[in-house]
Amino acid sequence: MSKKSTKLLDVIVIGAGASGMMAAITAARRGKSVAILERMNKPGKKILATGNGKCNFTNNNMDTSRFHGNIQLIQSVLDRFSKEDTLSFFHEIGIWPKEKNGYYYPNSGQAVSVVEAFNHELNRLHVPVYLEQEVLDLFPDKYGFRIKTVQTSYTCRNVIVASGLLAASKLGSDGSMFSVIKELGHRFVPVLPALCGFYAKGIQFSKVAGVRCDANLTLKIDGDTATTEHGELQLTDYGISGIPVFQISSPAVRALYEKKTVAVAIDFLPEISSEMLCTEFALRMERSKTEEKADRLLSGLLNQKLIPVLLKYAGIHPNEMLENITSERMERLSAGIHDCQVTLEKVRDFEFAQVCTGGIRTEEIDEKTLESRLLSGLYFAGEILDVDGICGGYNLQWAWSSGFVAGCSVS
Ligand SMILES: Cc1cc2nc3c(=O)[nH]c(=O)nc-3n(C[C@H](O)[C@H](O)[C@H](O)COP(=O)(O)OP(=O)(O)OC[C@H]3O[C@@H](n4cnc5c(N)ncnc54)[C@H](O)[C@@H]3O)c2cc1C
Repeated sequence: MSKKSTKLLDVIVIGAGASGMMAAITAARRGKSVAILERMNKPGKKILATGNGKCNFTNNNMDTSRFHGNIQLIQSVLDRFSKEDTLSFFHEIGIWPKEKNGYYYPNSGQAVSVVEAFNHELNRLHVPVYLEQEVLDLFPDKYGFRIKTVQTSYTCRNVIVASGLLAASKLGSDGSMFSVIKELGHRFVPVLPALCGFYAKGIQFSKVAGVRCDANLTLKIDGDTATTEHGELQLTDYGISGIPVFQISSPAVRALYEKKTVAVAIDFLPEISSEMLCTEFALRMERSKTEEKADRLLSGLLNQKLIPVLLKYAGIHPNEMLENITSERMERLSAGIHDCQVTLEKVRDFEFAQVCTGGIRTEEIDEKTLESRLLSGLYFAGEILDVDGICGGYNLQWAWSSGFVAGCSVS
């Protein structure tokens, strides 16, 4: 983009992701001289991948219960820049919202329009984005800070680190800033993948790969119920995925990291009570017990691929004749369908994660300004902080809100 600056800048932002671009725009609008350093060859690469290319950028139900992390800090940041502020900011830069069930997208249905709108606003404010400038080092000097990149070095009065964590590292956030930040004295809550699937055991996953079904999931940590979710479960050859799995992923991955036993109880027929199901079994049995096999009990109720697997889970061979299935075994089958326990073995890799849980310890950060408590003039925004949200536009809202707060604070 623009030529490199040799003058002393008020602010350098590290990372041209959602939070970094927002921080830079906010500081520039308040009259500060700002530049962004980005290691990739384009800004906003991760934004392009969000919401399946449609960018779900905020949500109507914006409150701290949707986040994991320091609730007081999250509340303080969301109070400063709310969902309403996001909608009016987006409107100002030319993004009309389209709302669907509380989820907001650009009216174009394209994440690329969000990136273009941010680029346009950065250009309008004369904020240069220096591309392919991976930051290798950052340290205080007599002017404020000196930043060394792969190609050159910069000096500035304030730095906003918005370099993300490790999720989807092909899109830029590769953890290259971790050692630099640690060198400045900050500590990290261990960084783990979240909003992703899990390797699991308990049923024959290889036989149900590709099945999608509405299910209730109950996360159990060391046998205790931690949380429940409803939604479209995706069964894969390695285990479980899909939105309800993403929603429970943050506490699940943390518990696995802490070497706890982590299980998910799946209710494959949440709309049909055990009583109704057993009555239905009895009817089917009555109609055709002499000619039919056990799989007749579930036909039409569940995906064909699931039927032999769930029968087996309940100790019934799919080819057993119906007349051999006692009412006790039918009850066991109903119980297995409503409470099919799978054990989580490990989380998928960072490259398949939409976000990370963990990050810079928030007790080392001023909750009002997002300035480091260890080093004056150093600020943080976005996912790099130990804050993560569930699916639904919450993580981008965190990026916009924290970027805004950091951008205001340097001003
Ligand atoms: C596939 C996918 C879909 C998603 N969908 C949604 C969604 O619909 N809604 C939602 O709310 N959230 C979604 N998210 C999550 C959301 O995209 C992130 O939470 C958000 O983009 C994080 O913004 P950030 O600015 O903190 O970090 P990032 O977007 O990761 O940006 C960090 C930037 O810093 C740069 N950088 C890193 N290290 C250096 C360095 N050393 N020097 C210079 N630059 C550096 C990186 O290249 C990157 O551009 C999705 C994520 C993924 C991967």
